Amino acid sequence: MSKVLVIGAGGVGSVAVHKMAMNPDIFSHVTLASRRLVSCEKVAESVLARTGVTIDVAQVDADNVAETIALIEKVQPKLVVNLALPYQDLAIMDACLATKTDYLDTANYEPRDTPKFEYSWQWAYQERFKEAGIMALLGSGFDPGVTSVFASYIKKHLLDTIDTLDILDCNGGDHGQHFATNFNPEINIREVTAPSRHWANGEWVEGPALSHKQTFDFDQVGEKNMYLMYHEELESLAKFYPEIKRIRFWMTFGDAYLKHLEVLQNVGMTRIDPVIYNGQEIIPLQFLKAVLPEPSSLGSTTKGKTNIGDIATGQKDGQEKTVYVYQICDHEEAYAETGNQAVSYTTGVPAMIGAALMLTGAWKAPEGENGGVFNIEQFDPDPFMDMLNKHGLPWQVKELDAPLAF
Ligand code: NDP
Repeated sequence: MSKVLVIGAGGVGSVAVHKMAMNPDIFSHVTLASRRLVSCEKVAESVLARTGVTIDVAQVDADNVAETIALIEKVQPKLVVNLALPYQDLAIMDACLATKTDYLDTANYEPRDTPKFEYSWQWAYQERFKEAGIMALLGSGFDPGVTSVFASYIKKHLLDTIDTLDILDCNGGDHGQHFATNFNPEINIREVTAPSRHWANGEWVEGPALSHKQTFDFDQVGEKNMYLMYHEELESLAKFYPEIKRIRFWMTFGDAYLKHLEVLQNVGMTRIDPVIYNGQEIIPLQFLKAVLPEPSSLGSTTKGKTNIGDIATGQKDGQEKTVYVYQICDHEEAYAETGNQAVSYTTGVPAMIGAALMLTGAWKAPEGENGGVFNIEQFDPDPFMDMLNKHGLPWQVKELDAPLAF
């Protein structure tokens, strides 16, 4: 029986809390806190209507460490699940340290003024978490998250060694809008407009954003153009699987999305430095977020499927072999279950699963260690893979004739 405090009542927080309510044997008591109480109340109403479970709600500004400490002290959770924005990661980790409470998130810390995607800030908490005897699980979403666990599963069960790994993220969903993002627009656009970067023979190879593409035929979605991008799990996979010579991340984008993005960039609307407007400082990207559709509003109109997975080539019993592990999620089915589209669903479900594995003790610090900061690929993939199948994200394995082309 475990109390959990979830911070962040957006699309991902909503899915995670619905799924926790569906598993009351593990999550005996859930409190959902966010910057605006009304966001939590909306989720709580839906959870009650769909599952019959009552959750508690609270208001918190998670940028304010003292406020978060006070909330944790009041709620007394065993685990804090951070589903707010990447900007809040360190402040919430500080509050967890002060209260000796375990921590989980789905996205690496980002400073507001620089789109820098790296784990260094959070890895720097390792000794302090160990000393406090608490655990942090980083990146328990889909990518990072499920894609990192797929890599561990491939290494444990399908290949003796992995030489190359490609992560393919396809959203074949259509929301019927000219331009919208499927999760927080500010975070999404920062990520997509960053230079591409992949890992090759022990170093990072950088290129201009969205400059390298290839077409891939995704199961149940069809042919899509996918673009080489940087994504944060490349850094942790390169660290924890040093045998992998090349690791790349690809994401699909439609031509209309890219055309809008190019224009927005050209006119300066994706800038994250302040500009003066009517005597007041505004950040163009934050203003753009305010005029774009709320990702959570897209759920009712989005049709189609996501297909996200890992293609790995390596050696098995002395022979070269290529395997593909992937998961397909239907936007309409996801919406019917929790009132959120598949991008939130595919992130919220793994957040619930990571939390469940921490709370039940299935995932814990190695023998002899008191705690620490861990990325998801450091743990045994099997219980996580089993729970994906049971909780709405079934996956499949295929053998391919050849590695993914460059
Ligand atoms: P949303 O923007 O929909 O939701 C974020 C929520 O955080 C909002 O409810 C917002 O509050 C709340 N929030 C923002 N600032 C604060 C603050 N200072 N204090 C308390 N609450 C705050 O985002 P998503 O739900 O789409 O994404 C949530 C997280 O999941 C993000 O970190 C995102 O990067 C990550 N993500 C990870 C993925 C993965 O596969 N690993 C994929 C997609 C997302 P309010 O509504 O109360 O104003």
